[in-house]
Amino acid sequence: MSKRKHDEEDSLSTASSDSADSLGHVEDYQRAKRNRRVRFSERTVFHFPRTQGYTCVPSNGGTTLGMKHKHTFVERILISDDDLSESEDSYDSADSGEEHCFMPIPQKDRKDILKAAGVKKINKQEAIECMQIRYSRQICGCSCKEFCELESCSCHLNGINCQVDRDSFPCGCTREGCQNPYGRHEYDPITVRRHFIETERRLGQMSALASAFIH
Ligand SMILES: [Zn+2]
Ligand SMILES: [Zn+2]
Ligand SMILES: [Zn+2]
Repeated sequence: MSKRKHDEEDSLSTASSDSADSLGHVEDYQRAKRNRRVRFSERTVFHFPRTQGYTCVPSNGGTTLGMKHKHTFVERILISDDDLSESEDSYDSADSGEEHCFMPIPQKDRKDILKAAGVKKINKQEAIECMQIRYSRQICGCSCKEFCELESCSCHLNGINCQVDRDSFPCGCTREGCQNPYGRHEYDPITVRRHFIETERRLGQMSALASAFIH
C-alpha cells in the first residue's frame, strides 16, 4: 500500500470519529468511490424484415439481400453485469481463427434466404443488372503489355495511376516496365493481411482494457 493511500485512510478514520456530520460525509465518499464505474442498463434492438436489397453488387451473382425501411418490432433488453461478462466471453471465443472473414453468399443461398423470409416475387432484372456491372468492372486498366508507353497507355492518357491487383490485372505493366508518371500501385496481400492481424490485436487489447474498467 502506498504512503499516500495510508494518509488518505488515516484522515478518513480521524474524520469519522470527529462528529456525526463528518461521518455522513465519509459514507457518501466511500459509496461514491464504490459506484464510480461505467454501467450499461439497457440494450435496444430494432428488428427489420428481410427483402431484396438493390444496394450492392454480389460478387458471385444472384439477387441482393437487404432490409425493409421500417422495423417491425423493437426489443428492449435489460443488461446485468452477468450478461456483460457472458457477451465478452462469447466475443473472445469467436475472436479466434477465420470467423471474422466474410465469405460471399452463393447465388442459390441468396434465393433461399429471401424465400424463407417470405419474399414471394424476386425481381430477376436486378441480377441481370448486377451481372452487367460486374462485367463492366472487368474492363479497366491499360492494355499495355509489360511496358507503359506514354502516348498509348490509357491510364496515363486519362491522368490516373496504373493499378495491379493480381497477375496483369487490371493493368498489364510490370513494376520495372511502367513509365506512367502518375505512378503504379500494386495490391500487396501480405501487407493487407498484416494490417488485419495488427488491427484485430489492437481491438482485442482495447476490449480487454474496457472490460477491466467495467469490472
Ligand atoms: Zn499502361
Ligand atoms: Zn495502367
Ligand atoms: Zn503502367
